[in-house]
Amino acid sequence: MAKRTLAKLGEEGLLTRLAPMLQRHTAGLPLPTGDDVAVSPPPGAGQRLVWTVDAMVEGTHFRFWPAAPGARWLGWKLAASNLSDLASKGARPLGALLSFGAPGDAPEHLIAEFYDGLDECLTAHGARLLGGDTVRAPQWTLSLAVVGLLAEGLPIAARHRARAGQGVYVTGQPGRAAAGLRILEGLSSAPTTYASDLIDAHLRPRPRLAEGQALVAAFPDLAMLDVSDGIVRDGARVADQSGAALHLERDRLPLPAVPPDFGQSALDLFLHGGEDYELLFTTAAPESDAARVLQQIGGAGATRIGTVVEGEGVHLVEADGVPRRLTPKGFEHFP
Ligand SMILES: [Mg+2]
Repeated sequence: MAKRTLAKLGEEGLLTRLAPMLQRHTAGLPLPTGDDVAVSPPPGAGQRLVWTVDAMVEGTHFRFWPAAPGARWLGWKLAASNLSDLASKGARPLGALLSFGAPGDAPEHLIAEFYDGLDECLTAHGARLLGGDTVRAPQWTLSLAVVGLLAEGLPIAARHRARAGQGVYVTGQPGRAAAGLRILEGLSSAPTTYASDLIDAHLRPRPRLAEGQALVAAFPDLAMLDVSDGIVRDGARVADQSGAALHLERDRLPLPAVPPDFGQSALDLFLHGGEDYELLFTTAAPESDAARVLQQIGGAGATRIGTVVEGEGVHLVEADGVPRRLTPKGFEHFP
């Protein structure tokens, strides 16, 4: 039997296949799935809407790596990377709109797996898939817009709010996702126990929503972003937009665990690796407060990695105490 593809299935066939999932996501709303628009009730009084959109394009942001069979991870990752932007401002997810493009010969099972992963991640984090559009495209081209809620009394943890004297913190262990990408790309290898963990960090990042909400509620002076392009590149965005400098202390950094012969050092992965979707934030609150706030929700811990000082750029302070400016290498998507 010939393999069913997007071209054979058509947009109507795909919608029919997805109907149970779409109906579940739009249950209780004024319009069922399949109309021109989605209609939702207004947010509660005192709530602001928080919007973001992010795309993933095959060959630019991902490949169908042999070591990452199927496409469930792809749906998860698209949702997670968008929800992570809501996390960076402490917003609570509400709904999402998907623009889905794939080649006509894309097999039906991959498309179904993609939607399963998207459904899993959105549902796990309280977001509904309100609607979307399906097109044929030369390669997989996926774009998700998400909207969330942020109560009016809460601060907006803008990138430009870093001030001299604040501590610099990061959740988790950035660099693991980039290490996973090296393994997927065949550039490095690692013992199986390490490798599957690092690959998982790249394919199924966890949006730090609970952490972001707890931090925004606790610290009125917070500046925060999610790390998508690496600590140095994203840290430089905070520094530039704030008119301040970040001094990172070498011996405080929570480096990822990689084998000695990995081909890229743990320090380099930490500083320049992308797509961990951890939260980088600054606050003048005592270090013990940041730890307590995150412990209370049982989420990812945060490490104080440095201090905001007068000046510009991101600097690494090693044992000699001399700050050295770091240049963003960022995360090159398949250059
Ligand atoms: Mg972001």
